[in-house]
Amino acid sequence: MTFKELGLDKNIIKSITELGFETPSPIQEKSIPVLLEADRDYVGLAQTGTGKTAAFGLPMIQGIDTDYRAIQALILCPTRELCLQITNELTSYSKYVEGVKVVAVYGGASITDQIRQIKKGVNIIVGTPGRTIDLMDRKVLNFDTVSTVVLDEADEMLNMGFKEDINQILEGTPPFKRTWLFSATMPKEVERIASNYMEDPFKVVVGTKNSSAANIDHKYCLVNGRDQYYALRRFIDYSPGMFGIVFCRTRREAKEFADKLMTDGYNADALHGDLSQAQRDAVMNKFRNRALQVLIATDVAARGIDVDDVTHVFHIDMPDEIESYTHRSGRTARAGKSGESIALVSPSKASRVRLVEKQIGKQLELIKVPSGNEICGQQLIRLIQNVHDIEVNEKGIAPYVAHIHESLAEFSKEEVIERFVSVEFNRFLKAYEKAGDLNIDPKKSRTRGGDREDSRGERGSSRGVANGNRIFINVGKMDGFENKGQILGFICNQSGIDGNSVGKIDLFDSFSFLGVEDGIGEKIISKMNGKNIESRDIRVEFSKDKPKGGGRRSEGRGEPRREGRRDRKEFSNSGGPRNRSRNRR
Ligand code: AMP
Repeated sequence: MTFKELGLDKNIIKSITELGFETPSPIQEKSIPVLLEADRDYVGLAQTGTGKTAAFGLPMIQGIDTDYRAIQALILCPTRELCLQITNELTSYSKYVEGVKVVAVYGGASITDQIRQIKKGVNIIVGTPGRTIDLMDRKVLNFDTVSTVVLDEADEMLNMGFKEDINQILEGTPPFKRTWLFSATMPKEVERIASNYMEDPFKVVVGTKNSSAANIDHKYCLVNGRDQYYALRRFIDYSPGMFGIVFCRTRREAKEFADKLMTDGYNADALHGDLSQAQRDAVMNKFRNRALQVLIATDVAARGIDVDDVTHVFHIDMPDEIESYTHRSGRTARAGKSGESIALVSPSKASRVRLVEKQIGKQLELIKVPSGNEICGQQLIRLIQNVHDIEVNEKGIAPYVAHIHESLAEFSKEEVIERFVSVEFNRFLKAYEKAGDLNIDPKKSRTRGGDREDSRGERGSSRGVANGNRIFINVGKMDGFENKGQILGFICNQSGIDGNSVGKIDLFDSFSFLGVEDGIGEKIISKMNGKNIESRDIRVEFSKDKPKGGGRRSEGRGEPRREGRRDRKEFSNSGGPRNRSRNRR
């Protein structure tokens, strides 16, 4: 089946061909002819990533009367991200259809700009419910002339509490319009909207009801809660080319996971509700441009994230709402690609696996957290593949070739290969040399058994960093270091060491501990001891013991004794600040 056979005009086909659309996706094939021809309501059950924007967008654009300068279509969607994405897609589809004007209205952006755009003339409004109502109240938006209303991701809109808003907006549209509803899942509330506002809708289901895309591999492993972070790291290391989203249940968990991954040298960042809109946009841009490999998100913050080519979705435990599983896993395997959804399930949430299976109509495969050996093997294969495929810039290296040959003359070809491979590979070998088994035996999962702490081996030994050496430094949160990444950056700057040689960091109020590779502690001590931080001497020394949590050090644990809990008096004679600066770095 071609787009032409579905009944689309050549101007529309021209633009989508330019976008690389060759054949219609299943939902497009089923929906476009109906939406072009039939003057009736419609319900499409489809995941994001199946091509549903074009499924409603293309017939909508073809139906616009460009001589009639009035709002003819309204699309409501749950988030600003989705709103912008739909607007961009529709604008691209209508590139060769003169007179189609699409305007996005969403919260968190200047309402005056949006009003100005609307006043210039618009025939398709794409809006989030809150801002749409605001503009209706201000009499800027009036939907008397609307003939098509789309409710996109209706289940998400209801989850986000927009039920009243949707009702209010729909009340403000003419009774004779067509309503097209799209939803990934069909909870009772969505069915209620369909029955309240739609008449004998034409129904299209892609996949099974509430199901997820066919090309997602659903997997889970059983690990103790305290091992989830280490298990996640292993999966990331096991898949060198992965581009993924990690879902956490709370903001705190998302922050913690992102923080740890960053400290451990991974290219990760967090997306959660505590960030401002501008911060969220910055993180999303980095992720879209693939400047980030791993995005750690909460369910709410991740709504409307539609980034193509996501290879993996991880669930840090099963979500509290079973339906969230479908939304989470739908972030991968978009646009006909395949992807993996891997849930790291703790024993207390193991029973939810069956509920999810019921929900998506598929079994989740029980897999094992990769072992250290498996990870090293994968990394080695990837490394060798890269060496094999790399394009050699002969001209660029020409001036150095003689010196290189001279320096390596004493080694055989085999030795040279081994050495080059080791440069990259040693850190993985080292990181995983003592790695134990993180998997819990499913039969014992109810007992919350599983590994002892030691079995991980890599605890605190991030990316090849041995934890045998531990240093104490008398700077901490009170000095304005808000997270481990910041203090690591400060120490690297001051001492010139490489961040990869630092392992576990414990950041407390007035001091911190760092696990460091052999030889690194001495370097930090020699470079930083005696330096100043806000007129106060920095003191670094080897620690004799590990802190057991909490913000204060007790004398009994073999930690450096002089520091104790610093109080304000300590600064009064030194002329140092009472409020320790946050902006030093
Ligand atoms: P959606 O489900 O609408 O979010 O679409 C997911 C992605 O697939 C978007 O990047 C679309 O541009 C792309 N897409 C939609 N339809 C097709 C098609 N028929 N062929 C290729 N790509 C498509």
